[in-house]
Amino acid sequence: MAILVTGGAGFIGSNFVLDWLAQSDEPVVNLDLLTYAGNLENLASLQADARHQFVHGSIGDRPLVQRLLAERRPRAVLNFAAESHVDRSLHGPGAFIQTNVQGTYELLEAVRGHWAALPATEQAAFRFLHVSTDEVYGSLEPGQPAFTEQHPYQPNSPYSASKAASDHLVRAWHHSYGLPVLTTNCSNNYGPYHFPEKLIPLLIVKALAGAPLPIYGDGLQVRDWLYVQDHCSAIRRVLAAGRVGEVYNVGGGNEKTNLEIVHSVCALLDELAPAQARGVRHHHSGVPLQRYAELIAFVADRPGHDRRYAIDASKIARELGWQPAHTFETGIRQTVRWYLEHPDWVAHVQSGSYRDWLRQHYGQA
Ligand code: NAD
Repeated sequence: MAILVTGGAGFIGSNFVLDWLAQSDEPVVNLDLLTYAGNLENLASLQADARHQFVHGSIGDRPLVQRLLAERRPRAVLNFAAESHVDRSLHGPGAFIQTNVQGTYELLEAVRGHWAALPATEQAAFRFLHVSTDEVYGSLEPGQPAFTEQHPYQPNSPYSASKAASDHLVRAWHHSYGLPVLTTNCSNNYGPYHFPEKLIPLLIVKALAGAPLPIYGDGLQVRDWLYVQDHCSAIRRVLAAGRVGEVYNVGGGNEKTNLEIVHSVCALLDELAPAQARGVRHHHSGVPLQRYAELIAFVADRPGHDRRYAIDASKIARELGWQPAHTFETGIRQTVRWYLEHPDWVAHVQSGSYRDWLRQHYGQA
């Protein structure tokens, strides 16, 4: 048996693959297009591991997916592949429609054809698990109840609209064709291997460089934060025991404003990597830094910036017994530590030199 993971060289996908193979010997076929966000260096520890087969390609390449399914006969397909950055979607929505909508459609069609031809026992055990986001539900005002699985879809950015469209396709492939699907809608993740365009790694990397820490608008936007390993454990749980056709919200019960996040990161850096001891100076003024919070700089808000996301994860807790293992305090401490211990990973990602690494090790870029 094997599972097929798409987007397994990205932030959550690579954490999932590492986590999966740490807990099981079931092989993983990893299909990833290696966009700017895909980084095989995340999976360097698996290079000589026969349980991991990396395939460079797109979920939108139906013949390729059909061939992989026929050759490897995975018992499940887990779809992490996506364009995932809201700011990028504002500047260039086309890639989001291409991958998140068209790509998911091609993937579903390849999987449907394969699944329909399976013998009855394999067909009954097969699952298509679609990894999605809480951003499809839109924005909440302070005091409104958190998103349940019944909350109407009200996506506000090209990213969330494209993810909402993919969720609808997945739902329809179940209702129309009987494909055994599962969907998870998760809140903001953070943790190791997070590309430094996203808030938490961006803050860590900029602070260590003495660069301004950009905070959109008043910084009072609220997000629910989940440590990435808790997301991985939720996905494993849903795959193992989720009811076919169901949607499960996944969240950490950690509502934080962006300002609280930046202050938490700065306080941890003050403790673990004091600016004075490292000789960090303000990037612009050159003045020695006392505390990292001095770098906070408010910038114009994102257009249409959602005010608050909050996820009600009681269904997955009740039905599947899943709970996050990390509090925000333990998760953010591990995350800051990981970035401090992996300056080479950050430098490679920032300089794009991980592509040279890729060429060296895999003969491609
Ligand atoms: P990411 O951008 O770090 O990784 C995406 C991966 O998909 C990359 O490795 C990229 O190379 C790959 N990819 C892109 N287009 C592809 C294509 N056409 N075919 C194959 N591979 C392709 O994203 P992430 O943060 O790891 O998110 C993974 C999934 O989880 C996404 O579907 C995202 O919507 C969802 N999600 C993310 C968060 C979060 O906080 N990061 C929260 C909830 C849900």
